Amino acid sequence: MLAVRAGRLFDGVSEQPVEKPAVLIENGRIVAVQSGGELPAGVPVTDLGAVTLLPGLVDTHVHFVFDATADPVSGLATAGDEQVLSTMRANARLALASGVTTARDLGDRGYLSLRLRAELAADPAAGPMLLVAGPPITTGRGHCWFLGGGVEPGPDAVRAAVREHAEHGVDVIKVMGTGGELTEGSASHVSQFGAAEMRAAADEAHRCHLPVTVHAHGGAGIADAVAAGVDMIEHGTFMTAEGAEADPAVVRAIAAAGIPIGATVALKPVPGVSRPPRIEKMLPLLITVFLELRAAGVPLVCSSDAGIGPLKPADVLGYGPAMMVGLLGIPPVEALRSVTSVAARACGLGDRKGRVAAGYDADLLAVAGDPLTDPGALTAVAAVYRAGIRVR
Ligand SMILES: [Zn+2]
Repeated sequence: MLAVRAGRLFDGVSEQPVEKPAVLIENGRIVAVQSGGELPAGVPVTDLGAVTLLPGLVDTHVHFVFDATADPVSGLATAGDEQVLSTMRANARLALASGVTTARDLGDRGYLSLRLRAELAADPAAGPMLLVAGPPITTGRGHCWFLGGGVEPGPDAVRAAVREHAEHGVDVIKVMGTGGELTEGSASHVSQFGAAEMRAAADEAHRCHLPVTVHAHGGAGIADAVAAGVDMIEHGTFMTAEGAEADPAVVRAIAAAGIPIGATVALKPVPGVSRPPRIEKMLPLLITVFLELRAAGVPLVCSSDAGIGPLKPADVLGYGPAMMVGLLGIPPVEALRSVTSVAARACGLGDRKGRVAAGYDADLLAVAGDPLTDPGALTAVAAVYRAGIRVR
């Protein structure tokens, strides 16, 4: 057994911090959390000082195959598998050092993330615990087709693709429901699959006991995903050709089904680099959409889409909560939950990750300052533990 002391603790849920916490850890799990008081005799103690402890962050949407350059797509096209794997390993280390102790890779090439998943399971210091989707299921020349997950039109082909993914041993099925910004010739507001294909994807995934999450920007794609009974929606921006406008009936349906939306808002400030002008222009409308989703009671997860550009390196998630507070005007505690307990629940790990409580995995982040009053403090990393092992 070991104990970690700090100045205060955000447990992943509570608005009120625990003062002078001690977290007791055994075999990679948290066995008790106490405030002040005596520790059991003989337990080695690490006192981290005046820092704030919180759960290790959960990034529900990363792409470790991408190198976060201005053109991650061409780089990937010419790289061999070993080279891609070394990019993935570097991304995993970067993510872990920033406090991301759990990451869900929602689109690789050639199922390489399954190899990385095995490596990180054997060596907790090498990166986060990984959940993987393999290559995203898309249409022939649809969004991210170059990752190799393109299928013929029709529900049967979609079902076959889901089964193939399940046989490989993925943790989640990722479907590209609409076009996306990254792919030339693809339009974010336009659906790639119809309602029948989306239902085939969700049904087959569930038959294989896998959750399914759908990349969807356009309202029609979002509506089809909700009707199909998917487990999560990535982006969920309700983009139109030039703007964004939520359909209130669809928003109500998302809320009624309790489907979390992964808002991939985290950006790392890089001097001289800003959001793509198209996105910058529609930003006020996107903010309105997210506020409407939140008002309806939809769980909002803050994630990264790490890898797709220079503002989204693998260590970007910690910048997300401050952006959620700045853009949406939500309280810091809600933004912190969106990268911890709410994110963990959204990817099916709500009983293991995202909280500092007895029975949970001992994945901890310690930061200088108090993120409950200043979420920007999340990037002032002082220590990181994964499965009870100090990795930074
Ligand atoms: Zn993505």
